Formats: sequence, C-alpha cells, structure tokens
Amino acid sequence: MERWRDKVAVVTGASSGIGAAIAEELVGHGCIVVGIARRKERVEELSRKLKGKLYAVKADVSKEEDILDAFKWIRQNLSPIHILVNNAGIGKPANLIEGDVEDFKSVFDTNVLGLTIATKEAVKDMIKHNVDGHVVHINSVLGHYVAKVPNLNVYPASKHAVTALTETLRNDLNSIGSKIKVTSVSPGLVETEIFAVNGYLSSNEAMDYWQSLPKLQSKDVASAVTYVLGTPPHVQVTELTVRPVGEM
Ligand code: NDP
Repeated sequence: MERWRDKVAVVTGASSGIGAAIAEELVGHGCIVVGIARRKERVEELSRKLKGKLYAVKADVSKEEDILDAFKWIRQNLSPIHILVNNAGIGKPANLIEGDVEDFKSVFDTNVLGLTIATKEAVKDMIKHNVDGHVVHINSVLGHYVAKVPNLNVYPASKHAVTALTETLRNDLNSIGSKIKVTSVSPGLVETEIFAVNGYLSSNEAMDYWQSLPKLQSKDVASAVTYVLGTPPHVQVTELTVRPVGEM
C-alpha cells in the first residue's frame, strides 16, 4: 500500500458501513481520502475521529449533477485521483409483481448509473494525469447468482450490471493501453445499516432470520479492498468474493 501514500482516493457511500470502514482503512494507509455521501455530517464526524486526511463531500450519487459537482470540487482541490471505490448502494425489498417503479429506478440510479458516472469522471482524471490508478466496485455475491428467496427486487439485477460493468471497463481500458486496474469485490452478508435503513428487517420474523445468519464485519471487506489495492503493479485481481464462514 506504500505506493498509495499521499495519493487521492475517492470512496462513495463513506458515511456508514463498508464505505466508512474502507475510508478509515485508506486514511490509515496515508491516502488523502474523499468520502462522498448524502449524510456529509457523518463523514465529517468520522474525519474528526480519525484526525487524518478525510474530506467530506455531499452528493447524491443517483443524481448526475451531484456527481459532476463532487468531481469538479475534487479536480479543483485535490486532483489527480488515484483510487475510486464505488461503494454507495441501496436495496428496496419487494417482489417484482408489486414493487414500486420509483424503487426500481432509485436502485438502478444509485447502484448502476451512479457507479458508471463516478467511474467515468474518475477515470478521465486518471488518464489526463497519466495515473495508473485503480477502480474498485463493491459488488455483491448477488452480482453473480440469484438467491432462491423472494423480495430481492431489482437488487441482484443491479449487481449483475456491476459485474458486467467491471468487465466492460477493463476491456475499454485495455483497448487504449491503459494500466488502470479494475476490481469487483463481492461480499456475502455484512453486518451494516443497509438492512434496517432499506426496510429488510421490518418484521420480527425477518429480524430473527437475519440475526441467525453468519455475517462479516465492514472491516473484513475493507481488508479485502486493501488486499486488492496492495497487489504489485503488474497484478490485477479482477474479482474477489468474501463470505462469512458458514454462509449458504
Ligand atoms: P450502508 O447502508 O451501511 O451504507 C450505504 C452507503 O451508501 C451509505 O454511506 C450511504 O450514504 C451511501 N448511499 C446510499 N445511497 C446513496 C446515494 N444516493 N448517494 C450517495 N450515497 C449513497 O450499507 P453497506 O455498507 O452494507 O453497503 C455498502 C455497499 O456494499 C453497497 O453497494 C451494498 O450493495 C454492498 N453490499 C452490502 C452487503 C451487506 O450485506 N451489507 C453485501 C454485499 C454488498 P448516505 O445515506 O449518507 O447517502
């Protein structure tokens, strides 16, 4: 990780869970971290706690103009970008027959379009400054298969799109001779706010079931991200799946 010291790393969704743990880990490795989230105050709180170089930028990644403004600020104040971790993501439990179309859209706008636009902005900056950077997508095991349970809604479809976008970006970078790396990190179940915030645990039954499952902690995923970032320049981890022991 020594080569990333004093280099700029952008982490989307740095206000809680996995994104906050990644931001903390990267600050610990001496990166200059930009944490993007709607709840900017939570990133600021983390920044005060870490006493390191963590800048909070408020943006809703489901809105193109917010992403463009965030990257404009980064370019003007901190560029060049060396690392982008596309972590911001949501799910909206429902079945596809009764699900709300606005929820279909917000999941895709956040998990797919937000990630694609942030990637475009970061990679343009890396190429402009001739930086052999690294783009990491926080995907999911549900980006590779669909669990046989109801109410997953469009979440697995959005994460399958992330799997495809990882490969497509690598093809595009290879075709122009770029050495920017692209990695998909796919966690199994992680104990974070995502389930409570997005309404997955609204019944006692759902809560009991969730509590019974083996889970990773956010810092386990952050360690996996550090691992892929720490590989030598000629080595590229394209996909890394991290699951709790005992996960079905
Ligand atoms: P959390 O709910 O704890 O964190 C989600 C983060 O994403 C928050 O920082 C939130 O910030 C941010 N976010 C959500 N929507 C937006 C938006 N529109 N604009 C900007 N930021 C946004 O969940 P996790 O840490 O669990 O999730 C992080 C990633 O990990 C997601 O991509 C998720 O799909 C993936 N993942 C999670 C698993 C799990 O079991 N927890 C398993 C596999 C993958 P704010 O609300 O402040 O905007």
